[in-house]
Amino acid sequence: MELHLRAGRRAGVERTCGKKVAYPAEDSATRAAVAMNAKPTTRKPLEAYPCAFCEQWHIGRAMSLDELRSSATG
Ligand SMILES: [Zn+2]
Repeated sequence: MELHLRAGRRAGVERTCGKKVAYPAEDSATRAAVAMNAKPTTRKPLEAYPCAFCEQWHIGRAMSLDELRSSATG
């Protein structure tokens, strides 16, 4: 979660927050991500992540721990 916040800050408000749908809580964001993953048109796994900018939750491509680490520090 902390890595997500750091990676988000580095990626910038446009990519991390911007026009994305914001969910006020983790459970509703996770449910929305699961529903999207169930669609045949969704090719890449999605996951809910906490936003460093608006302090709500968004849905984005699921990142591995290595990816998160490198975008948080890289
Ligand atoms: Zn946001």
